Parts: sequence; structure tokens; C-alpha cells
Amino acid sequence: MKVTDTKFVQDYIAMAMHGDALGWHERNGGNFTYWLQDDEVRSIKEELTVSNEWLAIGTSVPYLANQYFLISGTGQFFHNMQKDPTHTIGIIQIDETGEKYQILWGLEAGGKPTSELPTHLMNMEVKAKQTKDANRVIYHCHCPNIIALTFILPLESEVFTRELWEIMTECPVIFPEGVGVVEWMVPGGKQIAIKTSQEMKEHGYNAVIWAHHGMFCSGTDFDQTFGLMHTIEKAAEIWLKVHSVVKVPRQSIPLQGLKDVGQAFGVKLNDSALYE
Ligand code: 13P
Ligand code: ZN
Repeated sequence: MKVTDTKFVQDYIAMAMHGDALGWHERNGGNFTYWLQDDEVRSIKEELTVSNEWLAIGTSVPYLANQYFLISGTGQFFHNMQKDPTHTIGIIQIDETGEKYQILWGLEAGGKPTSELPTHLMNMEVKAKQTKDANRVIYHCHCPNIIALTFILPLESEVFTRELWEIMTECPVIFPEGVGVVEWMVPGGKQIAIKTSQEMKEHGYNAVIWAHHGMFCSGTDFDQTFGLMHTIEKAAEIWLKVHSVVKVPRQSIPLQGLKDVGQAFGVKLNDSALYE
């Protein structure tokens, strides 16, 4: 089967275009990884070209050894993914040590995977272990309202979680575990990958905010991952609207209200954000 005819590639591109339409992917901003299922790999096997040119990932992900990933290319514009998938995205396979990868499809004309590949794969490894391999998607975008909020709120996960939960009623249901926050760091390397995957590992976050940069989300499929990003970004937008008008909102969802929502929807809220 042609790679570009598969449902997983079409769904991947549709999600990328949705993020682009919402203004989350200026120029080459953002990157996106999908972990292929075995039957999806089998369905495109004849289109994959084994190069045996193994390149360093820049970190170690032994749990993902030999696995296949659909990834976005570094420097590529999300805006072009639909009209030009073979240059903008690619399929890679990890080697048996979990330290190298080879390109099997796409990224034509010398393209390379996203500079955030270490973060994507380290987060994918953490989430795979946490979910018995159910987590398949890692997505990074430059969502403007969350970025704006990182200039205003203290860079503390508890504070971001609480402020976002309080600004839109269903937020605690969509991300009961809260959101992680990483202070400003140089993007595109192992250090930020370690920091981000620590947040996902130690606190079970599915969303991690990068100060003054953007956000990373994980999920079991495209809809869950995009829906999480969209919910958090929309909550940040409402927060900014409210606080542009009044310094202290006239009323809000009370602490007990958050707890009641958690109970009504059967979700365990992260206690650290339920401070008085
Ligand atoms: P890439 O073009 O390498 O994916 O980088 C974009 C980006 O958002 C870096 O954080
Ligand atoms: Zn970025």
C-alpha cells in the first residue's frame, strides 16, 4: 500500500493541518511523532527503503528498539504537509540498541527528522511504559496563549494546573493529572529531552509546557492528543481574556467545585494543585 494512502498518514496530516489552521505552527514551529502499529508497518513494507545508514538519535531509547515512527522533518513547515508529504515528513526505524535511527521513507532531498527527536522519543518511551504501549502520539506546537501565560504566572506546575482547571469547567476532567512546566531552556537537544520526560515520568503528566516556547502533549491517538492540546490552549486564551479586563476575577470555580467535578466524573485530581 502507498504510504500516503494509509489511514495513519492521512490522519497525521489532517491533525497537522488543524494545528496549522489554529496558528500553532508558524514557519517550521512544532513537531510531531506517531508510533506505528505492527500491522501498519506490514501494510507499507514494500514502500520502505532500507538504507542501513544509521544516524545518532542523540539519546538512548532502548525500549523503542527496532520500532517504526512517522516523524516531521526539521525545518519543514506544517503548512506544507498536505501538499508535499514526501519532503516534509518521514518514517524512521530505531536500531536494536535504541541509540540510532535510519530513514526508510520520505524526508526526500536530504531531509532529517525534527531537532526535537530526542524529546519525542524519550517521552514516547516513558509514556509507552506507563500505558502498556497504548500511547502512540507525541506532539509539540507553539500555541500562543500558553506561551503568553509563561510570562505571567510563576513557572510552577501546581500553579499552572490550578489556574487552568479554574478557568474552564471541564479542564479537570480532561487533564486531572495536571500540566508540567519546564523553565526556559535551549530547545532541540538531550537536556530539554531529559527534563521533559522526567516531568511525564515522575508526575504522570500528558502535557508539559516549555516556558516562552510552547507545549508537548502525549496521547493514545491523534484525537486524544490534539484534544488535550486544544483544551489547554483554549483555557489559557480564556485566562488571558479575563485577566486583560480585571486583575482579580469577580468570581471563579471554588476549590470544592473542582473536587466535586473530579468526583462527579470519576477522575482523581492531582492533589498538589488543590491548595487552599
Ligand atoms: P524542527 O523544525 O527541528 O522540528 O524545530 C521546530 C521547533 O519547534 C523546535 O522546538
Ligand atoms: Zn518548538
